[in-house]
Amino acid sequence: MKTAYNSNQLIVSKFGGTSMGDAQCMLRSANVALKQGSKIVVVSATSGTTNDLIELANTAEKSSWEKAQVIINKIKNKHHKIAADLELDKSSLLMMDEMLGELESMSRGIHLLKDCSLKAMDSMQSFGERLSSILFRQAMTLTLNKEKSNAKSEWLDVRDVLITDHQFGKARPLTAEIVSRCEKRLGAIRHEEVIYVTQGFIGSTEDGMTTTLGRGGSDYSAAILAEGVKADILEIWTDVAGIATTDPRICPEARSIPEISFKEASELATFGAKILHPATLMPAIRSQIPVFVGSSFGADLGGTWIKKDVEHTPLVRAMAIRKKQVLVTVSTPEMLYSHGFLFSIFKIFNDHKVSIDAITTSEISVSMTLDDSALLNKALIRDLEQQAEVLVEEDLSLISLIGNNINHTPGLAKKIFDSISDINVRMICLGASKHNFCFIVDGTQGEEAIKRLHKTFIN
Ligand code: ASP
Ligand code: MG
Repeated sequence: MKTAYNSNQLIVSKFGGTSMGDAQCMLRSANVALKQGSKIVVVSATSGTTNDLIELANTAEKSSWEKAQVIINKIKNKHHKIAADLELDKSSLLMMDEMLGELESMSRGIHLLKDCSLKAMDSMQSFGERLSSILFRQAMTLTLNKEKSNAKSEWLDVRDVLITDHQFGKARPLTAEIVSRCEKRLGAIRHEEVIYVTQGFIGSTEDGMTTTLGRGGSDYSAAILAEGVKADILEIWTDVAGIATTDPRICPEARSIPEISFKEASELATFGAKILHPATLMPAIRSQIPVFVGSSFGADLGGTWIKKDVEHTPLVRAMAIRKKQVLVTVSTPEMLYSHGFLFSIFKIFNDHKVSIDAITTSEISVSMTLDDSALLNKALIRDLEQQAEVLVEEDLSLISLIGNNINHTPGLAKKIFDSISDINVRMICLGASKHNFCFIVDGTQGEEAIKRLHKTFIN
């Protein structure tokens, strides 16, 4: 681990829920932030709290006030325990208690109205990060004092800078506005002896409504802020030492990848690796900010660098599995010698805001993979059936191999399919990307395919 506090590099670090689990985890994370020389620390809610808040909102809306109160007390106790362990100062404790009071009133409002809109849900969820960041700021202060650092820690309400649109539940950041607010609020950051502690996941509309970026969005927040302050490095601290060659629960031989390019990492994040929120890399790529992923539980164990230029470009660097996939095949003879068919099909997906992952086409049909949650939307399939014959196959797994020059390497497909020759492959996607080769297998055979391919290409 680097120990250069006064380095002139501007570092934004994010700590996830498990790194914020209790007082001890927070102190460990604060120590990592200090050793790394972070200037902005972006934190998630304490682990499990976002789920508790969602459950609270749903209970308040649909069930008895007594049941809602049980959850409120659970959240209060958890945060008070950490506050006591960290000997939280009076004014911060007051701020925390005010927030907890606000949470209770908001829950009561939802209960009385029996209505929890997406907008109310975002405000409810925001308490997780707002509370945890008050506690983390104290952990940071204790750590700075212990290390006799001159720097101060300061709590920053991220909603002053992270401005989004009004799409509650999955708001989109307004980059130009964020950059301008960062310049105003944090313009002197490189020269200040201050470590800002702020919230991931939440933002605000220009007219002051609290929003969230979608579940797991703290990584994305950190990347947006890194872009906003023109940071040199973005660090994502989690509970595993970097990105692994594949899911170690499937393949115990999986190991951490020292470096991966932006392009490969984007494919990996969208095609199943759970390590980063898929949108995280967009700001980092746009602004060419290298990203480090490591474990706050073992900062010395190393981790993964994600950056534009990498030293080694192996054919296969990693592989991912995305389960619970459905394959939707749409066919019509009318597609023969005509045009506009794909347009009309994709327009339906667009109208229903459903994202397609892999596609193959023939002259009269097109097959697309989707997450199975897309089927919850019955109207999507109904609308497709207006246009053509629709076949839906469920319980599939999407396997992808991530690497370099994958679409130009003779013999690669043979090697892949030789190693899984007894596994039925339903659809193959190759050619569109230099960095990704993916195919669909039956859900019961997905993990076996990963094990074999890992042995063939990585071990
Ligand atoms: N606390 C939020 C969640 O659990 C955001 C995050 O942790 O990234 O989804
Ligand atoms: Mg998380």
